[in-house]
Amino acid sequence: MSTSKPISFRKELIGNFGFPVWDNPTEAMVQAAFDHHGMAYRYVTTEVKPHALKDAFAGVKAMGYRGFNCTIPHKVSIMTYLDDLAPSAQIIQAVNCVVKENGKYIGHNTDGQGFLKSLTSVADPVGKSVVILGAGGAALAVTVELALAGVKEITIVNRSSSRAGELIDVLQPKLPMLTLSFVQWNGSFVIPANTDIVINCTSVGLSPEMAMVPVDRDSLFPHMLVCDLIVNPPKTPFLQMAEQRGCRVLDGVGMLVNQGWIGIKLWSGIDVDAQIMHAKIREIYNA
Ligand code: NDP
Repeated sequence: MSTSKPISFRKELIGNFGFPVWDNPTEAMVQAAFDHHGMAYRYVTTEVKPHALKDAFAGVKAMGYRGFNCTIPHKVSIMTYLDDLAPSAQIIQAVNCVVKENGKYIGHNTDGQGFLKSLTSVADPVGKSVVILGAGGAALAVTVELALAGVKEITIVNRSSSRAGELIDVLQPKLPMLTLSFVQWNGSFVIPANTDIVINCTSVGLSPEMAMVPVDRDSLFPHMLVCDLIVNPPKTPFLQMAEQRGCRVLDGVGMLVNQGWIGIKLWSGIDVDAQIMHAKIREIYNA
């Protein structure tokens, strides 16, 4: 009779729900970390249309998923189905990472935390003046984490005043320590000279258009750190212009890797090697 331990073929399941989601590289990055560490986890990118989210979540519960990422257009609508929200998601009112904890599905928001981890690897945010270009979900998450990390003031610059107004109305009462203001974006924006950190949180610059963010080139100075959340391409036209002006730059790859790293820690409790994830993303985008 054999005494060897039986082999288990079962994997812990993690999903990524979005629509469209075909171009989202998270699976390749996270699975690379799972495989590197020999973890019995399987990450599955799944196209879920808005009307199917309820059924998809029922499937998650039935199949006992450890958790999942959710991306556009589910970051807000998923909250209807969850058992509870972690503090980050409560303030931001959007969820990008769901974790099964003691049988309950809890919504987290790791986007801003991922950005902050990336930022603090190159700069100290405490007391800094920040310009954020954009007022969508990513801008909201980044604003919250920067405020909690101790930046002095944030100016939100956005095309539509309604979206920026909503963002400020939601956040200012929750972040009384922060000076938060709004500038409507008309034409080429002139960055105020006292700005320490500029962050592009719009989708302007994404491949394949790779458009230039409408910012006045001459208002960028070497004392500024210029960041872009866009991952594809990592070196956006905006970051190229900032480098030509002598600024330090930070691309969106670190944010993507860090939010994935935080998700893996929440799902499994394991600190994976972030370099494996960085390498996979840079391989995908040839950067
Ligand atoms: P949203 O759709 O919620 O917001 C998009 C923002 O971009 C809005 O403020 C919108 O302005 C602005 N915008 C779009 N087109 C233009 C334009 N032509 N000129 C000026 N402003 C424009 O998207 P998210 O906030 O979720 O994501 C924004 C970007 O951040 C995406 O490109 C995404 O790739 C990136 N991202 C990166 C992550 C990472 O891990 N690195 C994580 C999450 C996001 P308006 O309100 O006026 O329409």
